[in-house]
Amino acid sequence: MEMLIPLSGTDPTATAPNLVYSGPQYDTICCYAQTAGHREVMGYSFAVPMEAPRASRTEWFRVLPDLIIPRQVVSEAGVDVMPEGESAVGHMEDALDERYAEEFPDGVTRVMWHSHMGGHAGFSDKDVNTHHNFALWPFMMFVVVNRYGEASGNFEQYQPRRMGGPLNLWVAREVPDALTITATIKQQCVIRKLPARKSPRA
Ligand SMILES: [Zn+2]
Repeated sequence: MEMLIPLSGTDPTATAPNLVYSGPQYDTICCYAQTAGHREVMGYSFAVPMEAPRASRTEWFRVLPDLIIPRQVVSEAGVDVMPEGESAVGHMEDALDERYAEEFPDGVTRVMWHSHMGGHAGFSDKDVNTHHNFALWPFMMFVVVNRYGEASGNFEQYQPRRMGGPLNLWVAREVPDALTITATIKQQCVIRKLPARKSPRA
């Protein structure tokens, strides 16, 4: 049985879009982050809309299995994709747009991810500046991971209005004993009724 494990965000009252990685793809990205040594590494994933797996005020996207590591120049301070890398990403995007044309006529959405070798799985000023310059697309998503497997996500909308904010990130994991977990909670956890209190909105 599949369970959604929260990675970051996931405040149910926040009106942030949700992005769901498959377990294997998220683990692969973390392995790239660790294996790149003391250099950053980047890649692209592609996402499509999905049906909300739970009651939700916002949109949900799932990451497709396709992953590309374009030709890039890396250092401790950042990553620059080479021109042939950029065109490889474009070709893959075109191929995916074509493959999913019937199911998702608006095309796939780019998810650009990169690693931070330090402990910080958050975007730097330089990252945010880079995100600002991707206005070739109406909408894009960005993810940063660290070597501990932590991550943050942002979305950036360029058209029709320029706005952006955090993404709620999830990983879909196959959990063989999900039903056991549900049963154990029911069996082992006794609910204590708290005294009624005034609603904070009252
Ligand atoms: Zn960065």
